[in-house]
Order: sequence, then C-alpha cells, then structure tokens
Amino acid sequence: MNNKGFLLVVSAPSGCGKDTIISKVLDKMNGDAVLSVSMTTRAMREGEKEGVNYFYVSKYEFFKHIEDGDMLEYTNYGSNYYGTPIKPVKDQLEKGKIVILIIEVEGGGNVRKAFPDAKKIFVIPPSMKVLEQRLRSRGTDSDDAINKRMTIAECELKRACEYDYIVENDDLDKAVEDVLAIIRAEQLKIDNMKNKLKEVMNYA
Ligand code: 5GP
Repeated sequence: MNNKGFLLVVSAPSGCGKDTIISKVLDKMNGDAVLSVSMTTRAMREGEKEGVNYFYVSKYEFFKHIEDGDMLEYTNYGSNYYGTPIKPVKDQLEKGKIVILIIEVEGGGNVRKAFPDAKKIFVIPPSMKVLEQRLRSRGTDSDDAINKRMTIAECELKRACEYDYIVENDDLDKAVEDVLAIIRAEQLKIDNMKNKLKEVMNYA
C-alpha cells in the first residue's frame, strides 16, 4: 500500500445513521480502513458483543485506564463513560490503516490534542423534522426521550463547524459515496503520496 494511514473521526446526532454509513464504508474499503472499538461503562445491549461493539468495563477499570494514559480521548455521555483506547489506534496507523472513530462531539473535539492531523466528518440529517420522524419510527423511545434526543441533537449540530466535512444522510448510498470520496481525496493529498512520488522520480 502506498498510502499513509490517518485517523477519521465521525460524529452525528443520534438517529442520523452514522453507524450504518460507516459499516458500508468499511465493507467497501477491503481492510484498508478499520473501526476503533471503544471502551464503555454502559451495560451491553441485546445483540452486542464484547470486543466488537465495545469493551465493557466497570467505572473503576475505566478510570484506571485513564490514569495509566491508555485513552486517546474519553467523555461522559448520558450517565456512562466512553473512551477510545490509544494503543490499537497507534498500531493500526503504523500499519498504514485508516482508523475510524465513531464518537460524540465532546470526544471529537479532543482528538486533535493527540492527533493534530485527524480528519473529521459530521453527519447531518436532511432536516430536524426528518430526524424526529426517524427517531419516532424506531419505536424505541418515549416522547420524553425523543424530545431529549432532539435537544441534544441541536447542541451537537451547533458544533458541526468544528469538523472538516459535512455529509448529509438523506440517501444512504450517496452518504456512503460521500465518505468514500472524502477518504480518497485525503489519501491522494501530497503528504500521503510522497513515497509514491519518490518511487516515480527515482525510476525517471
Ligand atoms: P451508544 O451508547 O448509543 O452506543 O453511544 C452513545 C454515544 O457515545 C454515541 O454518540 C457514540 O458515538 C459515542 N461514543 C461511543 N464510543 C465513544 C468513545 O470512545 N468516545 C466518545 N467520546 N464517544 C463515544
């Protein structure tokens, strides 16, 4: 592989489909991109798996990892803690992989302290009305919970301008193509192509 790896942060309000978009992006990247598995203190949900969706730990363990400097970033979201273990991220970057972090905006804001070159994508819904309809159609939340999610979504959207790219998730396939286009453009930047350029120039 000629390309250098980089860190890609993806954030979005709940209900914008960021996990679905990224799972399709990963399928199309043929192993060149990997997903960072976060650590959380929240309980495992039905259908989730240890080490696949999250590493599930107690609060004591979580804070021990912070103390030991194991976390790239972390945050308190709802009544739970979430954080990105730094070692797997570094290992994958060294292998030249694109490491994708699906994290909320607070953590997204802290990533560049450790990785100034990280690229950041914010996924938005076509409108707040559509977002509300999507949350209602899931049928998992009460009216109260939906109103809370909508208020949080508004706060998160206000921080979208801290990101490098905005991807609208109106049509899922188009949103996936947009993320792939961003990745490709980043891969083709001169910083990532210097080795290839040297190779070509040496031959000439
Ligand atoms: P959920 O509990 O629904 O899986 O996740 C709640 C929120 O936490 C989502 O916005 C998710 O993207 C975010 N999140 C998951 N892992 C991390 C992490 O390692 N760091 C941060 N800052 N947010 C995370």
